[in-house]
Amino acid sequence: MIKIDGSMGEGGGQILRTSLALSLVTGEPVRLSGIRAGRRKPGLRLQHLTCVQAATEIGDASVQGDTLGSQELTFRPRRVSPGSYTFAVGSAGSATLVFQTVLPALLLAEEPSRLVLKGGTHNPMAPPYDFLEASFLPLVSRMGPRVEVELTRPGFYPAGGGRFEAHVKPTASRTLEPLELFDRGPLVARSARALVSRLPSSIGQRELDRVADRLDWSTEELSVEMTPKPRGPGNALICTLEFEQVTAVFSGFGERGVSAEKVADGTIARLQRYLALSAPVCRHLADQLLIPLALAGGGVFRTQALSRHTTTNIEVIKRFLDVEITVQESETDDVEVRVTAP
Ligand code: ATP
Repeated sequence: MIKIDGSMGEGGGQILRTSLALSLVTGEPVRLSGIRAGRRKPGLRLQHLTCVQAATEIGDASVQGDTLGSQELTFRPRRVSPGSYTFAVGSAGSATLVFQTVLPALLLAEEPSRLVLKGGTHNPMAPPYDFLEASFLPLVSRMGPRVEVELTRPGFYPAGGGRFEAHVKPTASRTLEPLELFDRGPLVARSARALVSRLPSSIGQRELDRVADRLDWSTEELSVEMTPKPRGPGNALICTLEFEQVTAVFSGFGERGVSAEKVADGTIARLQRYLALSAPVCRHLADQLLIPLALAGGGVFRTQALSRHTTTNIEVIKRFLDVEITVQESETDDVEVRVTAP
């Protein structure tokens, strides 16, 4: 039984998700204490509980402590069963984080899987759907398995109601190939999309006007997308830079009392910080790429100064998998992360 202290490092929900994901992959039972102890409202919230339920279903696990607010959880998986599943957060909690929890086990399963995920698809502080589709999953697919996703409807806080499907096709050998990512390569395409749900389209247009103005992007690179049959109001600005070797996705979210221009400015600032450096892997992609790399038993990427999510994820991964993860920092905010199996 692996014991994980959920208050370590970053102290948030990612410790739980990585633990569940790797418990499923390795078959090792895990006991978590101090779940999300670093947060204002600690313990399992609806999104985290949905992650536990999804992992329980996929791994035919026995579980204790799976209630809202619980700070302790014992999870004992029996056997991972690929197949068709629907997981619904039942609020605007992030459905992409639920997907993140079960994906690693399904990448290495005997058969393909088809998942339907419902809840929030565009949440601040979680991977937006577009980041999964354009940035993270193409790299996973480069490691062997095929993962395809399709968005039916975006879901925003507070109404939720988003839905996407995922098709996961593992390789015949049920392994992942190591990945090396040192450079971005040349820029191939770029786009800014303003998603608007049950709000005036002018909000999205103002965001795009700001992008056109500050980044000098052409109108062909900009689009407003109105949500079909929206469940509630919401807005996200998604800026994508597609390079030959990697695609970077930057997002900003509309909020009551925050102008469309301010939402665009925050997104533009994140994109410009990325462009000012040469590392291909952004801060968010770094913490998420570590799991497939560790499962491949090898790989290396260049990124920016590590987030606490990344340093904490390294610690959790090393508790489950026999891998070395070395971090080499240079003076120019450039970090090389290397995963090796002994
Ligand atoms: P908590 O409420 O405990 O903070 P949580 O379960 O909502 O937790 P975190 O533990 O903070 O989530 O993990 C958030 C995950 O979402 C991390 O993997 C992080 O890299 C990812 N993430 C956050 N923002 C973005 C973004 N803009 N693009 C891509 N990924 C993101």
